[in-house]
Amino acid sequence: MPARVIPLHDARPLRIAPLPTGLPGFPLADALGRPLRDLRISVTDRCNFRCGYCMPKQVFDKHHEFLPHADLLSFEEITRLASVFVGLGVEKLRITGGEPTLRRHLETLIEMLARLRTPDGRELDLTLTTNGSTLVKKAAALKAAGLNRLTVSLDGLDDAVFQRMNDVGFPVAEVLDGIRAAQAAGLGPIKVNMVVQRGVNDDQILAMARHFRHSGVVLRFIEYMDVGATNGWRMDQVLPSAEVQRRIAAEFPLTPLSHSAPGETAERWAYADGGGEVGFISSVTQAFCGDCNRARLSTEGRLYTCLFAHRGHDLRGLLRGTEPVSDAQLAGAVAGVWSGRDDRYSQLRGTAGAVTEARVEMHYIGG
Ligand code: SAM
Ligand code: SF4
Ligand code: SF4
Repeated sequence: MPARVIPLHDARPLRIAPLPTGLPGFPLADALGRPLRDLRISVTDRCNFRCGYCMPKQVFDKHHEFLPHADLLSFEEITRLASVFVGLGVEKLRITGGEPTLRRHLETLIEMLARLRTPDGRELDLTLTTNGSTLVKKAAALKAAGLNRLTVSLDGLDDAVFQRMNDVGFPVAEVLDGIRAAQAAGLGPIKVNMVVQRGVNDDQILAMARHFRHSGVVLRFIEYMDVGATNGWRMDQVLPSAEVQRRIAAEFPLTPLSHSAPGETAERWAYADGGGEVGFISSVTQAFCGDCNRARLSTEGRLYTCLFAHRGHDLRGLLRGTEPVSDAQLAGAVAGVWSGRDDRYSQLRGTAGAVTEARVEMHYIGG
């Protein structure tokens, strides 16, 4: 069988543009007035899980060609680009993938990123999203390298359900051990993300709520999204957050909490009995594009201005071009892209203005 390659839609070449106004501290805003605050960096397109909603096994099988190592941004390239983004207003870095902890020597990258400071000298909020499978081994080293906190994805507590979802037979107990290892290493606050698919794992909602109440871990329910082009998404598999919340509140009364920061994706609620916090990320039924301040850097160095974008802008091409490029020139290129940004895919979903072009796969640009 010939090798199957998932096309990475376009490589938009990037032109070096002068900065819209002089650095430092100009308020960079996109075409809809949204600042740039959050950069998500995918460090690998590989994963040891095959979650059906992200990398379905029938597509990402042994014939799938992952990126060769030379195509990945190096740690030096990632750090240089991150520092340019920080100069433009980014305050939060999230390392993702694929499964980011599969990238060799990830702690070295964390160490390099942890040294970055905002233009006014503040530390960054440096975090990582992981499926938790390697945390028992790696949590302490990640913490020592300077990681602040962590989000672990876990879609159920029942082994049969979870193994069906990760589709590689990975046991729940090892992820729970990983979460404990992360807590013991002092990483916190830890968040657990559960993607809810109606009829697949929605019977796990209450068990998850019960398990993580009073644990110090913040559980967040994510609506199943139509990311990429391979997961066969159907609206009838989306369980709206309002329904998830109704089911939880029927057993554990909830009181609303305020958003912790502009651009925060989760709606936050507290258990009325002091059992902690729970969140709902309603990307499908209640789009939050209005204050979306997130940029994404793909594994091979393209800048995406929306999770659902069909085009990325080739920053690696600038870094590796024949002409040396200065940080100010890179900043000009990024600022040029950001100031033209008008993405609001989720808001437009299902309307006449909806974007219909093929989208980039989630494991190239992370969550
Ligand atoms: N492998 C890591 C993990 O699973 O946490 C990091 C990368 S994964 C792409 C990032 C997040 O995206 C995970 O929390 C995952 O559950 C979520 N995700 C992937 N596909 C999704 C989909 N179709 N709808 C909603 N969330 C999705
Ligand atoms: Fe892997 Fe994360 Fe995608 Fe699951 S969601 S297949 S763990 S990258
Ligand atoms: Fe941001 Fe795009 Fe998601 Fe809207 S759809 S919240 S613009 S990433």
